[in-house]
Amino acid sequence: MHFHIVTIFPEMFNSYINESIIARAIKNKKISISIYNPRDYTIYKHKKVDDTPYGGGPGMVMAVDPMVRAVKKVQQKINRRKNKEKVKIIMTSPSGKDFTNEYSGKLIKNKYTDIIIICGRYEGIDARVKKIFKAEDVSIGNYVLTGGELPAMIMVDVIARRIPRVLGNIESLEENRVSSSEMYTRPEMYEYDGKKYKVPKVLLSGDHKKIEEWKKGRK
Ligand code: SAM
Repeated sequence: MHFHIVTIFPEMFNSYINESIIARAIKNKKISISIYNPRDYTIYKHKKVDDTPYGGGPGMVMAVDPMVRAVKKVQQKINRRKNKEKVKIIMTSPSGKDFTNEYSGKLIKNKYTDIIIICGRYEGIDARVKKIFKAEDVSIGNYVLTGGELPAMIMVDVIARRIPRVLGNIESLEENRVSSSEMYTRPEMYEYDGKKYKVPKVLLSGDHKKIEEWKKGRK
């Protein structure tokens, strides 16, 4: 799976891409992540990518032309591969379709080879970008962030870990077995502010059936 992120803040992705499971997946060629900055493609003065909104209102809007040029650049790169590519174009938007496990699962099931994620900033992106590329608005939650970069990272993370062999053996096992959001590790008892916090007895019992049941109850 190839991820292509269109953003005016490419540096935001550096540490995320270079750490942990995502870095390993890139190294093992399970995924690739390319970043495209509309400022590199804009023909406006001073590398400008935004303008005031028609109809008035506060804030700026990301202009159509620099975004179109950046996305076209991505498409050209994909087309150079000359394979049968299946491309999905996502626009990050707080009012878009919910990004869920089910949504990410469908992207994998439908065998998309490339996912282009367009990150908005300011008051959003000129609506013509969505129309031109038949992109889908996708939201990571019912709140408004300052930009689409965090949503893009979340989408990449969720989708990538569902790609076969992105997670190591142990991590995959963790995925498939009964897990709970209530986890403990050493020590068995932790004292804080005069109060004792103990690991639930069942987890120390060695009775796997009972442990599984306990975990199910805490999902
Ligand atoms: N005025 C815009 C609106 O109401 O849709 C909000 C723009 S927001 C300040 C700037 C950008 O952040 C958006 O264009 C979008 O790309 C991104 N964004 C903010 N919240 C998001 C969310 N919950 N999910 C996905 N993207 C989000």
